[in-house]
Order: sequence, then structure tokens, then C-alpha cells
Amino acid sequence: MILVGPPGAGKGTQAARLIDTYQIPHISSGDMLRAAVKEGTALGLQADSYMKGGHLVPDDVVIGMILERIQKPDCAHGFMLDGFPRTRPQAEALDTALRGAQVELDAVVLLEVPDQLIVDRITGRRSDPDTGTIYHLTFSPPPAELLAKLVQRKDDTAEAVATRLAKYHSETGPIVPFYDGMNILRRVDGVGEPDVVTTRIIAVLGPVVGRPSPGA
Ligand code: AMP
Repeated sequence: MILVGPPGAGKGTQAARLIDTYQIPHISSGDMLRAAVKEGTALGLQADSYMKGGHLVPDDVVIGMILERIQKPDCAHGFMLDGFPRTRPQAEALDTALRGAQVELDAVVLLEVPDQLIVDRITGRRSDPDTGTIYHLTFSPPPAELLAKLVQRKDDTAEAVATRLAKYHSETGPIVPFYDGMNILRRVDGVGEPDVVTTRIIAVLGPVVGRPSPGA
């Protein structure tokens, strides 16, 4: 399955909850690219300048990275893509690769959040570098003792957010009709408490990707 939505729609937050429910790996192109930047790999060096300004990393770089990742054994029983595909060529490359492997996408969840909410959500976003837990200074406040160690993403500034939102509409927008045409697009209202949004996602996924695992 795939999670699609503007930056700050809650894809990462929801993915972290959904992997517990569905027991499949969460593959975030943004997390993979940030890890590559941190490690200083060739791919990271290539991606860094694009990411800092909120621009998209070139398709060939990201496509290669994700297609390699989904061939790993832990993806044999399914996977959740977050942040990929983000352009029509990426969606087409994924489609070709999945057809070749005779794997079918069950669902593409589109988390819908209006632009005016996105800026507030992103500029208040902080994460715990040790656990990866995402907080929001106002909407999902961290425990006081963690506050000092929380970090803000370099591209979560107001300027980069404006670029990222514009790119989302111009570059990622066209993948919506692509998946709608395949009849696997599921629109979910992303406004509200994270728990409420999770319940909405599970409600639309339930019939297509099977029941949540026991105890979830
Ligand atoms: P994210 O964590 O998904 O918001 O991604 C952070 C940044 O990584 C984006 O602003 C892009 O610079 C880059 N990025 C992540 N996924 C992709 C992708 N599928 N295609 C191009 N660039 C990406």
C-alpha cells in the first residue's frame, strides 16, 4: 500500500501506527534519504542540496533507491510506502516494477489536509533523534524532559514548506488520477486527532488489505 499526502499531512505519524496494525515494513523515502545524507553516502551527497531547499530529489535517484528496497525479504508479505511515489514518472516506474514481479497494490491512501493547516503543523514539528517519535509543540506536546533533545528537520522552515507545498500540488497532484483510474485510491480526511485519523484509515483499508492483526 501507499500513503500519499502533502508534507505535514501526518503520513509518518500514521505509518508508525499502521505498521503495528498490519505488521508490514514502513518504507519512507524521506527517512531513507535523510539517513543517506547523515551517513554521507554518494546518494546522500546527491540528495542533500535538493532536500535543504524543499525541492524534489531527481526521479532516477529515488526510483532506484525504492525499487531496491522493496526487493528485500522483509517486503515479501507487503509493505507501506510513504513519500514515494511523488511524481508521475515515479508512479509509472513503480507500476512497471510491480507488474514485473506480479505484485498488486491493494490501496493508495490519500491523506487530505488543507494547505492553511500544513504550515502550522510543519513549523511546530519536532522529533526525538533517538526514537524517531514525532511530536508537535502545540498539537502533540512532548514530555517536558524530552524537550531539550528534540530536533527540527532542516526543511521544516516556513520558506522550505512553501516550496514543498507548491511541488506537492504541481508534481505529486498528477499521481492522484493515475491511481484513481486503477480504482485503488482511498481518500481519507487527515484533519483531526491522530487516533481519529488512524481509525478512518483502518476503516477504508479493512476490506482491501485484510483484518488488523490480533491485539492491534
Ligand atoms: P519527506 O520526509 O517525505 O517530507 O521528504 C523530505 C524530502 O526528501 C522531500 O522534500 C524531498 O526533497 C525528498 N524526497 C522524499 N521522497 C521523495 C521522492 N519520492 N521524490 C523526490 N524527492 C523526495
